[in-house]
Formats: sequence, C-alpha cells, structure tokens
Amino acid sequence: MTNMTKEVELLREERITPQRYNYSAGTVGSRFLVQLRDNKKITGAKCPTCNRVYVPPKSNCQFCFDKLESFIDVSDMGTLQTYTVISSPQSYYPLQPPFVLGVIKLDGVDTGLVHVLGEVDFEEVGIGMRVKAVFRDERVGSIRDIKYFRPIVR
Ligand SMILES: [Zn+2]
Repeated sequence: MTNMTKEVELLREERITPQRYNYSAGTVGSRFLVQLRDNKKITGAKCPTCNRVYVPPKSNCQFCFDKLESFIDVSDMGTLQTYTVISSPQSYYPLQPPFVLGVIKLDGVDTGLVHVLGEVDFEEVGIGMRVKAVFRDERVGSIRDIKYFRPIVR
C-alpha cells in the first residue's frame, strides 16, 4: 500500500515577476508630465480649503476630499527628507546601482516626491540636504524627464 493519501505539507513559494505595462496618467497626471516635458516646470495642485500643495498633483485632497483644480508651478529646489542607497541591481530600477533614491520635499510643497539623486557623494548625502532638479535635454513626458536631483552647493 502506498502513502498517496497521506496529507502533504503545502509550501509557499515566492516569485517576483516584474511586469512592464502602460496606463493613462489621467488629466491631472498628464498636465504634470506635459509641463515637465515642454517647459521644465514642476506642477503642483493646491487645495482650496486647506491650502496643501501636492506634487505630483492629485485630483482630490487626501485630507479635505475637495476637488483640486488649482494648478501652480512650484520650485525645482527642495529638501531631502529621507533616502536610501540602492546597491543591488533589479531589472525595474531606473539606474544601475549604486545610486541614491530619496524623498524630496520641494519648497512650498506639502508632499514628498520620490526620485533619484545624482552628482552626490554617498558619504555626504544626508537628511536635510538641499537639492535641485536637473532636467534631461531630451524630454518625453515622463517623471524621468527630471534626470535627478543634485545637491545645491552653497
Ligand atoms: Zn485640503
């Protein structure tokens, strides 16, 4: 007699399968991307009720739930709020490691923008560092039209 009816231990196997896909950026996201591409401007959405400014812009305030219809150009300079040094390669990373990925709070904006830092010394990068956007010469309507944020040398 075989042991086929005996309970089998069920295991879980983890697989990471990066997928490439396209989706609509929507009207608000497209406005943001067109300004990056055509004018090297960073667009924010301002809430009429609480005055919070979102970058990238959103359709609705996450605090008031008000519709956001006021779009403003914001500064291309900001402050590094947090960061990590990416050291192991992944197919979906925008750059070959090592590179720094950070959250930048642009001046006058209430949210953080996740982006890559460039021209940065890994030993000197730190929270509170002042940074400025560097745009690509050839832009296509992508968040990567901002090539990276570089430290502002004082
Ligand atoms: Zn609001």
